[in-house]
Amino acid sequence: MNDSFTPIPSTLLDALIRERLSGSQWRILGWTIRNTLGWQRTSVRFSWYQMARELRMDRAGLLRAARGLLRDGLLVAEGRRLNVQVDPEHWTKPVTKDIGDARHRKRCQPSPVLRRAKERGIETKKYNKESSQTPQSHAAGAARPVPGKYGHLSGERCFQCKTDVPLEWVDPVHCNGKLLAGTGTWRSPLTDGRCPDCDRTVLATTAEKKRQLDLRLRLIKLGGGEKPYRDFRFDSFEAMAANELAFTRARSFNCTRENLYLWGPCGVGKTHLAFATARRFCEEGRSVEFLRPPQLMRRVRLRDPDEEQRAITRLVRTEVFVLDDFGIGHDTAYARQIFQEILDGRDYNYLGGLVVTSKYSLDALAAKLDDDTISSRLAGMCRVTEVGGVDLRLKRRQEYNE
Ligand SMILES: [Zn+2]
Repeated sequence: MNDSFTPIPSTLLDALIRERLSGSQWRILGWTIRNTLGWQRTSVRFSWYQMARELRMDRAGLLRAARGLLRDGLLVAEGRRLNVQVDPEHWTKPVTKDIGDARHRKRCQPSPVLRRAKERGIETKKYNKESSQTPQSHAAGAARPVPGKYGHLSGERCFQCKTDVPLEWVDPVHCNGKLLAGTGTWRSPLTDGRCPDCDRTVLATTAEKKRQLDLRLRLIKLGGGEKPYRDFRFDSFEAMAANELAFTRARSFNCTRENLYLWGPCGVGKTHLAFATARRFCEEGRSVEFLRPPQLMRRVRLRDPDEEQRAITRLVRTEVFVLDDFGIGHDTAYARQIFQEILDGRDYNYLGGLVVTSKYSLDALAAKLDDDTISSRLAGMCRVTEVGGVDLRLKRRQEYNE
């Protein structure tokens, strides 16, 4: 038997055999132990290149394995010198106490926090240079890694802004003597490959896009189609002398204290103004209902009395209630009663936010309904505004035909 041997402290060996180490890691540790303890030295002058050559390993694989050992404090690199941390108490990773059946076997290796140098677009050569030239004031065998010490080994690059972000050290948290998962380790500050700043920006953009989409869907539903949503806005309204007052009142409409009754012949843009008003409050995030009389009837008809009352209450409470084209179609006593109830509810609670459009003036409405209850209520609540002008629908059609 050869009389040359390597003295390995039993505490070190005991701790090592309990560690879950890869073959490459064992080989790196073996090389370091052989070159330090095997020569009664505390550390060995080294380079990764030389180690890879001697171990006949590829350098990327070797670095990957070594990084885990450095992170866990089993290996300590100081400048160009390397040594094994012989006191397991000084490893940053807690020493595994129980093995075998007492402990659940982790079947999967945890996904590496640190990606390979090659994937991060960092040349291994550069990494070597840095690692050997970085001045190290830190004493060997620190109980835990000094944040930033291995920053050059372990920074993560945000794929969006290309900034290198250092890893974050998560202090170990023990629960019943066991290390909580995800603590006592370096954590990547990246989310989906993005740094916190970029991630916040992306989240904000996504939220804004969702808000816009929700609003669009809400407006399309409100107007009952794509056309009102696309066309009925204040900036696309053709203002002229005859409709200027209506336009101004609709645009400056204050839904907390005003009510508006817009009347005028067909096609002068009453619905346009009413929908543009509803849109504005929708965008402000208020509750808005935009209904035509038949839709209003469908909302409340054929429900049991309680449900009907709830439907009416909802229409009384909604911040903005637009009834478009009041007075069209067949008028029934029931429809009148429902609308009267909604008007009363809003009026008695001093609510604003009611917009009614109709082709009838209030007098004509009273004549049509043969009853002036609703007309006089509307007269008392609303700013009654006539919308004049040419029939825009007709005008457009003529322009189109010319
Ligand atoms: Zn970024």
